[in-house]
Amino acid sequence: MTLLRTVFSRRTLAYASGGTLVGVGAGYWYLNSGPAYSSSTKETRRPPPPWTPPSRVDMMKSLKASGTSGQEFDLLVVGGGATGAGVAVDAASRGLRVALVERDDFSAGTSSKSTKLVHGGVRYLQKAIFELDYEQYKLVREALHERRIFLQTAPYLSAMLPIMLPIYKYWQVPYYWSGCKLYDILAGKENMESSYVMSKGKALETFPMLKSDGLVGAVVYYDGQHNDSRMNMALILTAVKHGATVLNYCEVTDLLKDSASNLNGARIRDNMTGEEFNVLAKGIINATGPFSDALLTLDNPAHKPIVQPSSGIHITLPNYYSPRKMGLLDPATSDGRVIFFLPWQGNTIAGTTDSPAAVEREPRAQEEDIRWVLDEVRRYLAPDIKVRRGDVLSAWSGLRPLVRNPAAASTEGLVRNHMIHVSESGLLTIAGGKWTTYRAMAQETVDKAVKVFGLGARAKTGCVTDTLRLVGSDGWSRNMFIGLIQRYGLETDVAKHLSDNYGDRAWTVCDLAEPRNDSWPLHGIRLNPSYPYIEAEVRYAVRHEYALTPIDVLARRTRLSFLNAHAALEALPRVADIMAVELHWSRAERARQITRAVEFLASMGLAPGTALLPPQGIRARVGHAVWAAARGIGLAAAAPPALAYSRARFDGAELAALKSAFARGAREIPGPAGPPEVRLVKPALRSVLREVPGYENISQKEYDYVLEEAGFKTRADLDFDEFLEICGTVKEVSFTPAPTRHERRVIPVEKSGGGV
Ligand SMILES: Cc1cc2nc3c(=O)[nH]c(=O)nc-3n(C[C@H](O)[C@H](O)[C@H](O)COP(=O)(O)OP(=O)(O)OC[C@H]3O[C@@H](n4cnc5c(N)ncnc54)[C@H](O)[C@@H]3O)c2cc1C
Repeated sequence: MTLLRTVFSRRTLAYASGGTLVGVGAGYWYLNSGPAYSSSTKETRRPPPPWTPPSRVDMMKSLKASGTSGQEFDLLVVGGGATGAGVAVDAASRGLRVALVERDDFSAGTSSKSTKLVHGGVRYLQKAIFELDYEQYKLVREALHERRIFLQTAPYLSAMLPIMLPIYKYWQVPYYWSGCKLYDILAGKENMESSYVMSKGKALETFPMLKSDGLVGAVVYYDGQHNDSRMNMALILTAVKHGATVLNYCEVTDLLKDSASNLNGARIRDNMTGEEFNVLAKGIINATGPFSDALLTLDNPAHKPIVQPSSGIHITLPNYYSPRKMGLLDPATSDGRVIFFLPWQGNTIAGTTDSPAAVEREPRAQEEDIRWVLDEVRRYLAPDIKVRRGDVLSAWSGLRPLVRNPAAASTEGLVRNHMIHVSESGLLTIAGGKWTTYRAMAQETVDKAVKVFGLGARAKTGCVTDTLRLVGSDGWSRNMFIGLIQRYGLETDVAKHLSDNYGDRAWTVCDLAEPRNDSWPLHGIRLNPSYPYIEAEVRYAVRHEYALTPIDVLARRTRLSFLNAHAALEALPRVADIMAVELHWSRAERARQITRAVEFLASMGLAPGTALLPPQGIRARVGHAVWAAARGIGLAAAAPPALAYSRARFDGAELAALKSAFARGAREIPGPAGPPEVRLVKPALRSVLREVPGYENISQKEYDYVLEEAGFKTRADLDFDEFLEICGTVKEVSFTPAPTRHERRVIPVEKSGGGV
C-alpha cells in the first residue's frame, strides 16, 4: 500500500511526466535534426531566367584592355584550380575587379584528381588525440565547419556519404567507435548524421563484398562527397557572374614590375594561339598549387622553394565493387597509408595519397601503384571476388602541394595546412590546404590582399561567401529531375545525372539536346550507352563553360575519362565531331585534338595493348582518326578486329595452340570431384605457357602476379577452363615491367595538407 502510494504520489507523477516531456522533446528534436539540406530559394519546376556567360573572345578583350590606363584589375589570380577559383569568387563578390588566368583548363591540376571527399579528416583527429596536437585539432574543427558550408553552397554537387570502418579485432570496436563519436561531437550542430556501430551480420548485409573471415563488426561515420571538377566549374561561373574575367589556356610567362620593383602585372601567353600580351593589376595572387615555386622564381630567382609535392593515386572499378551508398576506409594498409574505397558517380573509386613525388605537369598513375591499390582492395574483399587488373576502368594521379613557410627560420616548418606568403615585391602566394577548406583559404587570402594592396576603398563589402550560393544552386531541388523528365522526355538516369551535376543549369543543357527519333526517350543522345552523359553536354560545355578541347569535355565537364577511360576513347569521335562544328575546326585541327586526347586517355590507366574496336558506320570518318592515333601510340592492338577488347576471347589459332599446349603438359590425376580428370599440375604451368606463341617471355614476376590476380596462387592443379582463365589474365595484364618498387617514405599525417 505504502509502495503504491509512493509510486503514485504527486511528486513521482510530476517527475515522470516531466521526464516523458523532455524525452519526447528530445526525440522530436533528434528526428527533425537530420541532415540540414538547404531548401531551394526559387521555383524549381521551371527553368531559371536564362544566363549566358560572356564568351572567351569578350573575356580576352577585357583582359587585354587592362593594359590601357584606368582599366587595370584590382587583382590578377594565377591558377584556376580550387584555390584560385575560390579566391576569384571571394574577391569578385566583394566588388573587386578580378581577372583569373589558368594555363591549362580549369581544374586540370590537382583539383580534378582528388578523393572527392568533403571532410574534417578522421585520421587527423586520431593524430590530434594521440599526440595531443592542438593545431591538428583546430584544423579538424575548421574543416568540419567548412564541410557544412561546402555542402550548402552548391547542394546539387555534393552529398553526405556514410563510410564504414570494418573491424577485425574486438578491442578496435570501442577504439573506432569513440574516435568517430568524438568526430561527431567536434562537428557539433553542424554534424551530418551520428556515427554508429554495426554487427558483423549487418555489416555484411550492407557491404556484401566485404571479407567475412575474422570480421567482428564495423563502425560507420558520415562525411561529404562531391564532384570536384564540376565544383571548380561552378566556382568559375560564379566568379564570372560577379563580374570576374576568367580565361583558361592563358599562362603567366613573366611578372612585370614598376620602377620601385613592385609587381604591377604579368606577361600572358594565350596557349591556344601563342599570342602574348601584358595584363596590369594592383595585386597578383599566386594560386598555382604544386607549381607555386615556378611563379615565385619568376618573381625572385633566388627564392627558397616552398613546395614539397606528395602524390596520390586513384583507380576506378566497376560499380559492383561497392554498395551504391556506402564507402569504406581502411586506416591501416600494409605500408601504413590510408585507403579509401568509395562509390562515386555510379562506379567505385579506390585510392590513397601521400607518396613523395617530383613536380610534374601531367603526373601519371604508375603501373606499380595501380597494382598496390588492387592488392590492398583484395585484402578486404571476399575471396570469391577476383580483383583483376582488367577491372581497372581508369586511373589517375594528383599532386598535393605540401608547403614550407619561407619565412620560417629553421628547416622545419612544413606548415600544417595552407600558407599565405607575401614576397618583397608583393607577390601574394596561397598554397596548400585542401578542397574542403578552399572557401576559408580564399577569405583569408582576399582579406590579406585588401590590406597589402590597399584595396579597402575598392571593396563594396566584406566576405560574403559563407552564404553565397554557387551558380546552379538557386533553382535546384532534389526533385528537379522529375520536371526535366516531364518537360524534355529524358531517361530517368540521364535527368538525375543532369540535375545532380548542373543544378538549375540542367534546363539550359536540355534546351541544347537534339530530339531523338524514338517514342521514348524524346531527347538525350548518349555519348556512351553505359553512362548518362549526353551529346548536349558537349555543346553546353563549349558555349557556356569554356571547353576548348575534347579532354576538357571528357575529363572535367563530364567525368567520363575518370569513370572509364575506354568508354571515353569510344566517345571521343562523337565529341570531336560536335566540337569541330561548334569551334569551326579545320580537318587538321580536329586530327590534332584527337591525337592529343588519345594520348591523354592512354595515360589514364588503360593497360598497354588495350585494343579499341575499329570504328564503324556513320562515325567511321572521325573514328578512324582515333583508331589511327591509338595505334600510333600502341594502344589499339595490331590484331584483327575479332580479337577486340575482351579478356576472355581468343582467336581460333590461339585457342588451338593453347589446347595442344595444355594436352601436352596435362595428365590424368584424381580431380576435385573424385574421378580422374585431365589436369595440369601447377609446377608444369610455366613451361607449358612458354610453349604458346606470344607467351614465351613472361617473367617470373609477371607470372606470380597473374597467378595471384587470377586467384590460383594456392592451387595444386588446373583444368582446361582454369588454364584458359590464366591465359586470359596474361593477355589482360600489362607485361611492360612495372617500375621497381621504390622505398616508400610515408608522409606523416600532420604534414598532409588535405585529402585522405
Ligand atoms: C590525391 C589527392 C587526393 C585529395 N583528396 C582530397 C579530398 O578528398 N578532400 C579534400 O578536401 N582535399 C583533397 N585533396 C587536396 C585538394 O585536392 C587540393 O588541396 C586542391 O585541389 C589544390 O588546389 P589548387 O588550386 O591549390 O591546385 P591545383 O588544382 O593544382 O591548381 C593550380 C593550377 O595552377 C595552374 N598554373 C600553374 N602555373 C601557372 C601559370 N604560370 N599560369 C597560369 N596557371 C598556372 C595549373 O595549371 C593548375 O591548374 C587531395 C589531394 C590529392 C593530391
